[in-house]
Amino acid sequence: MNRIKWDQYFMAQSHLLALRSTCTRLTVGATIVRDKRIIAGGYNGSVSGGTHCIDEGCYVVDNHCIRTVHAEMNALLQCSKFGVPTENAEIYVTHFPCLQCTKAIIQAGIKVVYYAVDYKNHPYAIEMLENSNVKVQKVPLQEMVIDLKSKEKLEFVNELIEKVTESGADDKEIKALHEQAATLFSNIGKNN
Ligand SMILES: [Zn+2]
Ligand SMILES: [Zn+2]
Repeated sequence: MNRIKWDQYFMAQSHLLALRSTCTRLTVGATIVRDKRIIAGGYNGSVSGGTHCIDEGCYVVDNHCIRTVHAEMNALLQCSKFGVPTENAEIYVTHFPCLQCTKAIIQAGIKVVYYAVDYKNHPYAIEMLENSNVKVQKVPLQEMVIDLKSKEKLEFVNELIEKVTESGADDKEIKALHEQAATLFSNIGKNN
């Protein structure tokens, strides 16, 4: 059985959180992890109870949405709200953190930043992280981990290939289709 790797698991969690973002400019998710346990999560959004950008549009000043609390900040503030130590923790973010979040991450004692996508990576942010001995590692999400319909999709694809076979496509083409399907559905192919 293929077990999902820890870094993929936590990064998937951040991508899930990003789906909760209320600011349309960028959907970001952040997960704080300590000892392989999720201790907090956040996404780009307004302060609690505030107006959402998705409802009324962004509040843009100098090309930034000033309404939004960034995902990393929200995750860190969740820790401060509930008194959870962040020292020596790790953070998984969907996008490379901005300058403000970088400073907050460093000050909170986070030791590793995993990010999935490069996003305006600021040289000063990189420099600060280096100087503070915070490890930075790019971990792209390899695939959508959860697909509740994957079995049905595989069956459907197999049915289609069968139809193509019946209509007289040559063996080489059919073989290629089967191989492609096997690659796409490699997870369920092995486990079911
Ligand atoms: Zn916004
Ligand atoms: Zn930020």
